[in-house]
Amino acid sequence: MLRITDILDKTQSYLVPEEQVMIEKAYVFSASVHQGQLRLSGEPYLTHPMEVAGILADMKLDAATIVTGLLHDTVEDTLASPEQIKEIFGDEVEFLVEGLTKISKITIGSRVEQQAENFRKMILAMSADIRILMIRLADRIHNMRTLQFQPPEKRKYIAEETLELYAPLANRLGINWMRVELEDLAFCYLHEEAYKALVDRIARKEEEREKYTGEVKEIIQREIDRFGMKGIVEGRAKHFYSIYRKMSEQQIDLDEVYDLIAFRIILDSEKEIECYEALSVVHALWKPVPGRFKDYIAIPKVNNYRALHTTVIGPYGERVEIQIRSRLMHEWAEEGIAAHWRYKEGRAYKRDDDEQIKRLRELLEVQQELKNPREFMSHLKMALFPDEVYVFTPRGDVKSFPKGATPIDFAYSIHTDVGDKCIGAKVNRNIVPLKYELQNGDTVEIITQSGHHPSKDWLKYAVTTRARARIRSWIKTEERRKSIDLGRDLLEKEFRKQNLKFSQIIKSDEIKELFAEYSISSLDDLLAIVGYGRVSPKRVVNRFLPEEMKPEEPLPEKQKKKKLSISTPGISLTGVEDVMVRFAHCCNPIPGDEIQGYISRGRGIAVHTMSCPNIEGLDPERVVDVQWNIREKQTYPVNMRVVCKDKKGLLAEISTIISSLDINISHAEVETRPADMQAICDFILDVYDLDQFNQVLHAIKKLKNVISVDRVRK
Ligand code: MN
Repeated sequence: MLRITDILDKTQSYLVPEEQVMIEKAYVFSASVHQGQLRLSGEPYLTHPMEVAGILADMKLDAATIVTGLLHDTVEDTLASPEQIKEIFGDEVEFLVEGLTKISKITIGSRVEQQAENFRKMILAMSADIRILMIRLADRIHNMRTLQFQPPEKRKYIAEETLELYAPLANRLGINWMRVELEDLAFCYLHEEAYKALVDRIARKEEEREKYTGEVKEIIQREIDRFGMKGIVEGRAKHFYSIYRKMSEQQIDLDEVYDLIAFRIILDSEKEIECYEALSVVHALWKPVPGRFKDYIAIPKVNNYRALHTTVIGPYGERVEIQIRSRLMHEWAEEGIAAHWRYKEGRAYKRDDDEQIKRLRELLEVQQELKNPREFMSHLKMALFPDEVYVFTPRGDVKSFPKGATPIDFAYSIHTDVGDKCIGAKVNRNIVPLKYELQNGDTVEIITQSGHHPSKDWLKYAVTTRARARIRSWIKTEERRKSIDLGRDLLEKEFRKQNLKFSQIIKSDEIKELFAEYSISSLDDLLAIVGYGRVSPKRVVNRFLPEEMKPEEPLPEKQKKKKLSISTPGISLTGVEDVMVRFAHCCNPIPGDEIQGYISRGRGIAVHTMSCPNIEGLDPERVVDVQWNIREKQTYPVNMRVVCKDKKGLLAEISTIISSLDINISHAEVETRPADMQAICDFILDVYDLDQFNQVLHAIKKLKNVISVDRVRK
């Protein structure tokens, strides 16, 4: 147990004797009024205010703050009165104790209105003096450290409140060590299993990690020294909660969390330029990862955090996160607003520290005119987390998202199923498009439809890692499913051609050998790699041919291709049913054209004309022979360009010819070039086949004043 002499030892270095006496007096008073009270742990109640005062002394806060730490529960929990406090310790301490008493009466309920009202009271009380906030945080730290003595249901509630309110407040004040400790303690009680598992896994690799950390530190230090800079390099594992949050938000395993260790260069010099110099030293040493450099010196965070952040590719090809700061910046980063009070007495303290406090107060101050509790909540949260938006569920719960989030992010935050089946959203009762950017205070309702699926387009609008991961995973599963179907069709057909039964082959032992050969483990895998075009169906089938029928040498590309007919609306296909076949838009094949298919990953077969230049240079393994097999007559779009002299009435003549051949013009565009008196007419015609198209070409060519007629590709 902490004793009063321990606290006085801590404060001796920076407080004057009268202040030390005041602290001793507060101790005696607190001890007498708390006499006989016990904590749930069975210890005397006094241990609690002592520990709180100890934390405040470690933070080197002023005498009134430490005195208040010792007295913070006296008015609330003992017979002591505010008047008594005022008489013995003066106005300042009485004001601080009163502030804390007000807060301790507030509990945060779950209903929005109640929650908002309580938040409002708490923030008002706290923002009256920033020291009230720091004492409250120290109080919460000690309560969290001794949370195991509370009954289980209370533990959860207190831990939730800590994560929801106190950790963000500590962050807002820039007191990083408090935020880290509060988050880890709350995490430990809220997700006990996950916490234990993570701590255990991280501990297991400690030796390995320490060796690695030492290595990287040494390399950086050597470079810093070599360039004549003074400073130290630190490397330490990030706190458990931040690792856990990353793992659950990005749905990744611990092994995939690359930035487990954060490295820091802390420079002796206060010259900002040296930070940038150190950055260039690091970037010369290791290649930076693009888009990962953040300059919080030029643009400090709202809580006044300043540093340079970068991620580089380290000595083992791994990502390494490095922060660069001066000593003062580092002090602010760890202790935030608390660092202010340290410089108050004696040593120089900077004017902009005052500015900083003013800014924080302004942000914490709540505008009285915000009568609507919802408005108030989103306003408050905005002040605490400026890079996020706060919206409501129809039931009134608050949800937070990064700025720029859309209803898709909202839908996935509810449930994967809601996200997958999301077709639209209502914001404040009005229907909005899925790309709508959520605004603070919006009430969002998701409209779902069973059987609906995510689309690739959603990736353009989703910003949260969770939503993006889910959409990607759906696309991947879907691509695989389609590839398996396609692979099966292609293989069945190829086997049938060789009079082999696919259904028998798949039961054979030989197929297992094939799995080993391609390092796959199931029939589905095999179908998928064929469907993706990684392995040609022919190659698979050859394995099962009798010796004498196996081709000696690989056949030339042309002959190797297999025949395949296409099934798409209007075209029949023998054997391959329901395979995704689409016409490539680059060359728009029409019946009569020589065509070829290209197996595109997860998207079925794209049909191109034989002469399409886009096919050249593509993986020849994926090219398949396809044939027209018209089932019912239908039209196909084809692009035609007519270059002619710019003569009146010529366009009408061309259109007449086209119409007379019973061909529809679905699009026409004319561009005249005054320079050479020529007109370029681009048409999209709907034709039945190549014969019909050739007819129209010939007919137009015969016209006077027509210079050329061509089929064009995009
Ligand atoms: Mn307390």
